[in-house]
Amino acid sequence: MALSEFDLINRYFRRGAARRGDVLQGIGDDGAVVLTPPGQDLVVSMDTLVEGIHFPVETNAEDIGYKALAVNLSDMAAMGAEPAWFTLSLTLPEVDLDWLEGFSTGLFCLADEFSVELIGGDTSRGPLSITVAVHGLVPHGGALYRHGARAGDFIYVTGELGDAGLALRAMQHALELPPQVYAAALARLNRPRPRVREGGALRDIAHAAVDISDGLLSDLGHILHASGVGASVDVGAVPVTPWLHGNIAGTTGDNRNWWDLVLGAGDDYELCFTAARERQQALETALSRLSCPCTRIGVIETAPGLRCRFRDGREYEAPPGGYDHFTNVR
Ligand code: ADP
Ligand code: MG
Repeated sequence: MALSEFDLINRYFRRGAARRGDVLQGIGDDGAVVLTPPGQDLVVSMDTLVEGIHFPVETNAEDIGYKALAVNLSDMAAMGAEPAWFTLSLTLPEVDLDWLEGFSTGLFCLADEFSVELIGGDTSRGPLSITVAVHGLVPHGGALYRHGARAGDFIYVTGELGDAGLALRAMQHALELPPQVYAAALARLNRPRPRVREGGALRDIAHAAVDISDGLLSDLGHILHASGVGASVDVGAVPVTPWLHGNIAGTTGDNRNWWDLVLGAGDDYELCFTAARERQQALETALSRLSCPCTRIGVIETAPGLRCRFRDGREYEAPPGGYDHFTNVR
């Protein structure tokens, strides 16, 4: 390494004076020190991205930096928390200055947008892997959990699902997309917009929430399991972008592969949440203020299990062995 570990940290990750007034000590000591406001609970979350597993080897450094933080901010969103500080553990096969420049640019681009500050980390040598731990705040007792869903709640998702999975499959040559469709889908895969403001707005409205990182059915399953309830989902109501819609509109169980992708593919980082039906107007108002599309896709029921139906009444059954093997999508 031409650059010492110390130089590397100073050059790419230490950015002069603290940007947030609540950071008493950032990068540079044995530990960071932050001020936690009275009346707030601290929410902590961590996610690791490993090359070749969580992102394709050919992903550019800037996108990796962005996504490493984005997936963590998405967890804060699902908790209804406002992210404040994060730490970064970086394992690098070599010191590649161009890569570090790109990585830190992508990372800080998102950090600055959401006013979260990098306050420390760790750097070592090995196969490329990035771990971010993020710390956020919620008013005491106000966090959103997976376990809060109640029978009778409506189930909603923000934005549209399926595009990140579409891009991944196109990258793997499992399907071919028109160039503009591919570009848009790839942006969803590489630069997911964490729904942080939306999560905050839902804090006083939703009963339960989760971010969609592993696929709608899998992540909604976490809510059902944690809450001890079941659900019915109207498959045809699940929101998708126009190109996907054009391919699956009017189809039912006969066009299974597309539904497997929309319902099962992860990486979209939208929110799935439940709320009492009387709160529908309140949540529509809150989310439209943030220009966030929101779609009702089903209802929470007492009977355990997840029942997915097409509009014609036929049942959708998830592929055996989970949702992450879509080799036969066309
Ligand atoms: P120590 O040996 O006490 O653990 P290090 O030499 O590992 O400290 O790190 C020195 C300082 O640089 C610490 O404040 C640490 O939090 C920070 N740091 C190390 N690696 C990173 C990184 N990848 N990103 C941000 N801060 C880092
Ligand atoms: Mg130390």
